[in-house]
Amino acid sequence: MPKTEQYSPLPPWPRTDYCGAIRATDVGREVALWGWVQTRRDHGGLIFIDLRDRDGIVQLVLNPKHDGAAHAAAGETRSEFYVAAKGKVVRRAEGTANAELPTGEIEVLVSVFETLSASAPLPFQIAEADATAEEIRLKHRYLDLRRPEMQRNLRWRHQALQAVRSHLDQNGFIDVETPILFKSTPEGARDYLVPSRVNPGKFYALPQSPQLLKQILMIGGLDRYYQIARCFRDEDLRANRQPEFSQIDIEMTCPRPEDIQSIAEGMIASVYRNVLDVDVKPPFARIPYAEAMERFGIDKPDTRFGLELKNLTAAFAGTSFKVFAEILARAESVYGISVPGDHALSRRELDELTESVKSRHAMGLAWIKAAEGGWQGPIAKHLSDGERAAATAASGLKAGGTLLMVAGPPAKVRPVLGDIRLQLAAKFGLDKSDALKFLWVVDFPLFDYSADDKRMVSVNHPFTAPNPDDLAMLDSAPLEARALAYDMVLNGQELGGGSIRIHSRELQLKVFELLGLTREEAMDRFGFLLDALKYGAPPHGGIAFGVDRICMMLCGAESLRDVIAFPKTQKAVDPMSGAPSEVDPRQLKELSIKVTS
Ligand code: ASP
Repeated sequence: MPKTEQYSPLPPWPRTDYCGAIRATDVGREVALWGWVQTRRDHGGLIFIDLRDRDGIVQLVLNPKHDGAAHAAAGETRSEFYVAAKGKVVRRAEGTANAELPTGEIEVLVSVFETLSASAPLPFQIAEADATAEEIRLKHRYLDLRRPEMQRNLRWRHQALQAVRSHLDQNGFIDVETPILFKSTPEGARDYLVPSRVNPGKFYALPQSPQLLKQILMIGGLDRYYQIARCFRDEDLRANRQPEFSQIDIEMTCPRPEDIQSIAEGMIASVYRNVLDVDVKPPFARIPYAEAMERFGIDKPDTRFGLELKNLTAAFAGTSFKVFAEILARAESVYGISVPGDHALSRRELDELTESVKSRHAMGLAWIKAAEGGWQGPIAKHLSDGERAAATAASGLKAGGTLLMVAGPPAKVRPVLGDIRLQLAAKFGLDKSDALKFLWVVDFPLFDYSADDKRMVSVNHPFTAPNPDDLAMLDSAPLEARALAYDMVLNGQELGGGSIRIHSRELQLKVFELLGLTREEAMDRFGFLLDALKYGAPPHGGIAFGVDRICMMLCGAESLRDVIAFPKTQKAVDPMSGAPSEVDPRQLKELSIKVTS
């Protein structure tokens, strides 16, 4: 261990190689390395050290006969000491090569060895981090980041963004930074607010996305913009959300949806080619929102497997089964999923599924089995031969299969079955397939009705243009109007979404009005956009992709936190620094803020 008088912040010699990059072709070379001691094994006289840096591991050998001082210094190291070594690359002895390691054919016979920095006993072993509680890994993120998996994930993230930048650059997009201290930009979450000291009582909002700014860049003549933008959304953190995240933010002038989609497809294909050497073949399938809901019960369908929803309403018209009859009398519907016999569901599994549908969705699940002797299950006896034949035809039920059914209003029934579909896929392992099913969901509705707020809300955001064919509906049936909005989906995950925007001030005001904003509220919040729209605003549109989500898919990671260097926990906390934390009363005073809780 270096004594204080020996302390030097400078490297003892220049490095020649990364540990993990040395190969058999380097045999005979003198190398100088730095890295962490992953393991140290003393074998009689010989000491073996696995030395690790960001490229991987190389085996060092210290022979007391070769260099006594180096051997003695190595003998004092422990896990995660940071050391420097010089030596000669030699081939490993017959029969001792390690085929699992890229450096497994060679080792470095060390002649000079120095500890640059000792390590305290570790809270967890780097190699065993997988089994360590995530809270502890995040608290000691500097150790966790040393794991090869984290090193790889961050490197792939870098490569993905390199591919993105180069693709967008080649297509004429200009990287423009937009402010972090800004005004509220609604994307459906709460704002993070920052008090302004020099303007007491006033606040900036951190951008939920650069949406308004990128639109204004189009009005400002940039024509094609992109940015790897930080976005901030104060939401109750569900699994796989982060309060701050990065977005590939794109906007262009005068696009058709297909222009944006094709640039985005090329970008994603370039990412997969550059990072994984995988060929993704655009154009991706397009599925209208209405069809996605009808077939999959969700607006981001995973099409790696079937188990599609089927509308069985007609099959049960006139049924004498009371539960269905009552629901159908209210002009509601019956939907089902037919589960093939090779994915048999036991009675217990069906009971559990019924229970979970009841507790999660407050809906009933009916099922029948197409057994050899005929239909089985609690409701089978209520169904006539005609209904059985019609339901079999409509659902595609085959001998040995099970038909799961939910009845009620389609807007409720389909998402419930969509959820069951995903649960079944997970149960049967169908969601483990490494197929890449990219698709676009298009023709989203412009508005949705929020029962909580008793008003219409934007499905995307308020700046999304209505489909020109549906403009008249804004007055007659606004909830039926379609938007020029589109989402890119991969294997059931939304990678990105965007839209053509409103570039007419009048139409934008009308949409605000439909959303329940008074003229004053609209001017107060979005006056700057409404002003900009007065001055020859060109038609424009764009899209944004979640960097973290894309990287999670690329890396096959379970969590967004595994592809972010310093993520926050589910509670929006950083366990390493302890942020958020209390602040000095003096700071609060300067900001004219009183904490009431
Ligand atoms: N601003 C949108 C979002 O963050 C994306 C877009 O419309 O371009 O989801």
